[in-house]
Amino acid sequence: MPCSSCHQHNRSCIVDRSKSLSCSECIRRKVACDVSVDPDSRFDKEVEKSRQLEEEEENLMREIAVLHNRLIRTHEQKRHSLRRQKEYFDRGMADLAEEMNSGSELSNGDVFVVEGSGEPDWVQELNAMSPGSLEQLAVSVSQGSDGANPQSLS
Ligand SMILES: [Zn+2]
Ligand SMILES: [Zn+2]
Repeated sequence: MPCSSCHQHNRSCIVDRSKSLSCSECIRRKVACDVSVDPDSRFDKEVEKSRQLEEEEENLMREIAVLHNRLIRTHEQKRHSLRRQKEYFDRGMADLAEEMNSGSELSNGDVFVVEGSGEPDWVQELNAMSPGSLEQLAVSVSQGSDGANPQSLS
């Protein structure tokens, strides 16, 4: 918005804030200038906005760090649970095989066939969850947060 003087005389109102609060025309004509402070307040608004966005970024980074830790913990717990399942399963199978072997019906009890095709889902999942897969998971999660260490933000 031009000042009222420039507006009145249809002149372009140019303000150099580093030099004066008045526009160049008013300075030249030595008259009071009522030029709007808009350019400055717009700048201040953007500064404030970027500051708020930065704050939001930091909060999100913290949340990611918390969720990242939680994800790794959950992943570990799941892996342990699957391992335990396999242990119990193997133990159960061994007991069952022993029972079968001691029975008189199965003379050639060396062969023990489990019904169903392939391994149970959780065995496949356990095999897929090698220790390396956790690191891969961690890397994929931490990617994108490079250059911002949540621990350093406080
Ligand atoms: Zn002006
Ligand atoms: Zn002016």
